Amino acid sequence: MSDQYQVFANSGIGKFVIKNLGLPSPVVLDRYVSATPVLQGAVLLGAAKVGAVSAAISQTLNNIHANSYAGADAALQQQAAKIGLNLSAFNAGDKEAKFKAVIFDASGIENSDQLVALYDFFHPIARQIQRSGRVIVVGVQPETAGTVAKAIAQRALEGFVKSIAKEFKKGITAQLLYVDQGAEANIESSLRFLLSPRSAYVSGQVLRVQAAETVEVDWSKPLAGKTAVVTGASRGIGEAIAHVLARDGAHVICLDVPQQQADLERVAAEIEGSVLALDITAADAGEKIQAAVAAQQGLDIIVHNAGITRDKTLANMKPELWASVININLSSIERINDYLLAHEVLNSNGRIVCVSSISGIAGNLGQTNYATSKAGVIGLVKFTAPILQKGITINAVAPGFIETQMTAAIPFAIREAGRRMNSMSQGGLPIDVAETIALFTSTASTGLNGNVVRVCGQSLLGA
Ligand code: NAP
Repeated sequence: MSDQYQVFANSGIGKFVIKNLGLPSPVVLDRYVSATPVLQGAVLLGAAKVGAVSAAISQTLNNIHANSYAGADAALQQQAAKIGLNLSAFNAGDKEAKFKAVIFDASGIENSDQLVALYDFFHPIARQIQRSGRVIVVGVQPETAGTVAKAIAQRALEGFVKSIAKEFKKGITAQLLYVDQGAEANIESSLRFLLSPRSAYVSGQVLRVQAAETVEVDWSKPLAGKTAVVTGASRGIGEAIAHVLARDGAHVICLDVPQQQADLERVAAEIEGSVLALDITAADAGEKIQAAVAAQQGLDIIVHNAGITRDKTLANMKPELWASVININLSSIERINDYLLAHEVLNSNGRIVCVSSISGIAGNLGQTNYATSKAGVIGLVKFTAPILQKGITINAVAPGFIETQMTAAIPFAIREAGRRMNSMSQGGLPIDVAETIALFTSTASTGLNGNVVRVCGQSLLGA
């Protein structure tokens, strides 16, 4: 469904009216176009203290051939030079310079006094970040900080990043990347995602990277040779996920209810994938998936996207509405995962990605069943992540307002509120959810396990 208000807001007269009335101004967000560089514009790098994390950031910037700058920090310059990255000099007084991305390594901040490094770095350049720009602050997980003072300071980063995400406007996103000690070599897939237009509708989020095996990937086809199952793939977000995973090189088995066979076949044909018409609540769903992947080399990725809403206030809710939502959105995922793991259907380094919702984080009027199921999905990810073996990971995305048939069915006034009540003043697109899922499915994302990332343009709900 097109957003007519956004079209108006970006017209000549619309810009004038919106500025003068102080209305929300939804800019057109940059979105990823195949075969374009990760970052189209300059990046400014800074560090509270030069160390292993800043070295890893420089390594990624070098790998993506970023046009990189740093202020007067000789240690950072020297470290980058050793890696082969040329950091051009940036004079903090130069107000003409514009940056598409700004990365600050805050992992060396040891106590709350040193948080002033954030102010010193960001204050002078706060107006020099371009439209759809990227701000990334990198820290260490407070739980692993070593001292209480450091843990406090590292936890404080979250408030800074979430505020920047609200202040900078113009489609600029801001994220916090917590990197465990020893996980520096695992940050590249996350950094590439957060720097690029793939993360257009992800903002104010915290992503945690753990130490894990590192693997070489072809970044243009990170899923080459992999087999993926995507549930609910006949339309909406599932269709976009199927397209993105196929673009990244996977053979995608598109799964949906038999009633959606025609659309399922259309999607599968578009991406040279295959079709599995199946109700995921069937008792033998795991076996059916196992049979479907038998012709491939096993299963590498499962994306649990299929979901339904059956909204009613609790007082008006019939028992079957409660039961079907919990069964489809939560219990069937548990049953399928249990089967795939118990029967070793999922290959080593396999990826499980679930689709939650900000309703599962914030709760929502008329959605006791849905919010329960989606909060359960967050629990499923949190409590399954530590017990997985053989390099298998599980993560979730929690979409906010995404333009699909599901949200088109919402009454106008509530739909408009849902669209505007976020830092981007607009709804996200199915592709935004799909790109975030692709981060988690990436062969290179070995260090991402147990994360729940909201794809909601920093919605006010549950923030
Ligand atoms: P959608 O357009 O309704 O598509 C969901 C697909 O899943 C439909 O094709 C649906 O088939 C299928 N499905 C339902 N029950 C199934 C079952 N038992 N077995 C197999 N397939 C089944 O939904 P969407 O908007 O793309 O949402 C996709 C996911 O994102 C859902 O989990 C949803 O909760 C979540 N989400 C969406 C939003 C949003 O703003 N759109 C926000 C937060 C979270 P039917 O035709 O039978 O329904």
